[in-house]
Amino acid sequence: MADDIKAVSTEVVPVDSQRPEAAVIERAAALLRAGELVVFPTETVYGLGGDALREEAARRIFAAKGRPLTDPLIVHIAQVEELERVAAAVPERARRLAEAFWPGPLTLILPRGEQVPRLVTAGLETVAVRMPSHPVAQALIRAAARPIAAPSANRFKHVSPTTAQHALADLNGRVPLILDGGPTPVGVESTVVDLCAEVPRILRPGGTSLEALRQVLPEIEAPQPPRASEPGQSEREEGEAQRAPGQLLVHYSPTVPLCLFEGEDQAQRTAIVAEALRHLKRGERVGILAASEDVEALRPCEESGALVRAPASLEEPEQVAAALFATLRELEAAAVDVILCRSFRPVGLGLAVQDRLRRAAGGWVIRVDPSATAAEEVR
Ligand code: AMP
Ligand code: MG
Repeated sequence: MADDIKAVSTEVVPVDSQRPEAAVIERAAALLRAGELVVFPTETVYGLGGDALREEAARRIFAAKGRPLTDPLIVHIAQVEELERVAAAVPERARRLAEAFWPGPLTLILPRGEQVPRLVTAGLETVAVRMPSHPVAQALIRAAARPIAAPSANRFKHVSPTTAQHALADLNGRVPLILDGGPTPVGVESTVVDLCAEVPRILRPGGTSLEALRQVLPEIEAPQPPRASEPGQSEREEGEAQRAPGQLLVHYSPTVPLCLFEGEDQAQRTAIVAEALRHLKRGERVGILAASEDVEALRPCEESGALVRAPASLEEPEQVAAALFATLRELEAAAVDVILCRSFRPVGLGLAVQDRLRRAAGGWVIRVDPSATAAEEVR
């Protein structure tokens, strides 16, 4: 993987998330206009931005992230009129979605406009476009006066950053400037919808829910569950882009192994307690990601030294999404040996939460059945 980038010193500059200071935005925009990279907050996660119409800027993005060139970038615009600059055609269905959900956490796959370098789209004849709603992202794209390619500001395969500190931990020395606008409100990446397929379908669930999308386009197809990774795929640098890029099972992973429990709530709790105590007895450090409804049942694990984090209730998928990546990074930073994680219902933003957790588990999923004595382990 290309890692031949020159070390730079990284400056973190605070910015008002609601009324971004003009001088800060202008400084960042000047870097973008010069083909340099800037990390900035969006409503989903922090993005690693560069000029979307300049191949050299895209090359820098891939190098800074350590991302293979087969994984395309999302192009960010500040106004709907800019769509014509980056897409060769805008079908009626796309217009309806844009009207309903932009600015916001929705990415549309459209035919690639000629000005967008093939490097940005990983060789595909389609381009991913989004109009973010975050005031800092909006102001920055407007000031740069060009579309901005921006993947999440993390090293390839790591958990996406929801704070400037997360981005700094991954990209220190690899980008000149990080704008710190505080934690990002949505907390998971955008929903990606393919409008080049016969029937529009979700390629990646995210910050715009399937239910909301179906109110505008009832025919929209639900996302496919993640595929297992193919050997050598992540190492592949050039050549054919993947058919559904970015959809490999191992993605969004914490550096610590994560075991995901699925099944009836009470059975999950029982299985997590048993598994936690087993690891603790071996002298391992255990982190548990749970819901507030689980805290009481998990008391014995906590008393035996497990780190229990329950950022929200099962009834609040939006709060779970907002806290998910920060909680995974927190457990990782606490140097646990394993993270045991409950599952969340795939309703609203819960669908994106389920997707990210399945990817983070990389196939280590324990399906608990209340009637069975032992849990069935699927690896
Ligand atoms: P991120 O790194 O979070 O910005 O994710 C970008 C993701 O957008 C990729 O991994 C793909 O899943 C998706 N994507 C971008 N461009 C395309 C495209 N042309 N066709 C299909 N999916 C795309
Ligand atoms: Mg990403």
